[in-house]
Amino acid sequence: MALLIQNATVVGPAEGISGQVDLLLEHGMITAAGEGLQAPGAMVLDARGLLVCAGLIDMHTHLRDPGQTHKETLETGCRAAAKGGFTSLACMANTDPVTDTPELLRALRARGAALGLVNLYPVGAVTRGLKGQELTDLEGLMEAGALAFSDDGVPIMRTDLLREAFRRTEKLGVPILSHCEDAELVRNYAVNEGPVSRVLEIPGRPAIAEELMVQRDIMLAAEFGAPVHICHVSTKGAIERIRQAKEQGLLVTCETCPHYFALTEQEILTRGTMAKVNPPLRTPEDLGAVLEGLRDGTIDVIATDHAPHAADEKALSLAEAPSGISGLETALAAALTYLYHTGMMSLDDILSKMTAEPAFILGLSRGCLAVGEAADLILFDPDEEWTVDPEQFVSMGHNTPFAGLTLKGRVKASVMGGNVTWKEESIRVL
Ligand SMILES: [Zn+2]
Repeated sequence: MALLIQNATVVGPAEGISGQVDLLLEHGMITAAGEGLQAPGAMVLDARGLLVCAGLIDMHTHLRDPGQTHKETLETGCRAAAKGGFTSLACMANTDPVTDTPELLRALRARGAALGLVNLYPVGAVTRGLKGQELTDLEGLMEAGALAFSDDGVPIMRTDLLREAFRRTEKLGVPILSHCEDAELVRNYAVNEGPVSRVLEIPGRPAIAEELMVQRDIMLAAEFGAPVHICHVSTKGAIERIRQAKEQGLLVTCETCPHYFALTEQEILTRGTMAKVNPPLRTPEDLGAVLEGLRDGTIDVIATDHAPHAADEKALSLAEAPSGISGLETALAAALTYLYHTGMMSLDDILSKMTAEPAFILGLSRGCLAVGEAADLILFDPDEEWTVDPEQFVSMGHNTPFAGLTLKGRVKASVMGGNVTWKEESIRVL
């Protein structure tokens, strides 16, 4: 059925639509925009007082399904995404089985489509089983719908293999999303190598472990002119290397995540395993560099790296607990709180890094509000304050270092393909 959204104020990437307008959504598309639109028979949502922008796109999510459904299921993950304002997700391949064949990728896409909560874009693995020993059928995965390839979660240590992968992906024009940590340097250490690791008297993951791999992957991709996207950058040195590569005109893009611009390694001392994440939370100097990278455009994308874990897993010791943060339901609020309300960045720039930029990197014609585009959009209140209570999460992963913090900015409704996929009770559709 058609949906008429009245009196919403448009922000973020939009073409030919601005200010307070009505939007008519029909057959999954935005079919009209303007003042005082009439649509007899359509459902009506009054969005007065709220902002509307294109639906958010997360190019880095772990949905755990198949294989680890005690952490998250496809449905809970997609519902959490909708609640967080995301209408499109690229989900990483480190499930069980790994998304490393065209058949598995097609099956996952079909399950996502059947749920109808988000546009689901499974990422294809670069190596079979994420074992780093043998390349997958990259061409077949692309034909099956892979918009990107990644072994995320596991660094690809064999340089010869990754070089061969770039040789092939250049022809496909599909980016490799690279998890840049030197496995030999980071081992399974729980924290950054720095003041906190010294206080705790445990070994840490040094910044150079990330920087070496960023530099290696930029060089390998550049040899063939292949696109490379660096996942979750967290160090000053990595950002500086990406900045230099961009100045040289290389096809490199990158993302960071809210925890890297909001929190430092000190969180480990008070939050323990909830603040354990790969790469680890870093120093205030690194956080400052992440902010500068976001501001000057070196960092293209804000992604979540949503990594849900079960409570009993995160209850293990710092050394044994798995790494990761459940991020879908706090990402926009954290971005607004730490980047917009601090005066660091404009609303449009923040939203661009969560819509148009990831869409561009993945080659998606989404992420921009315009007549004729897909009816993916969200309504949000940039000023509403709320306190993060993981018990209220839709995600099965309640692991977040933002628990108890007050964030400013709240998603009120999400619409994907013209259908309301999430709304707060206060939002009425008549
Ligand atoms: Zn990763």
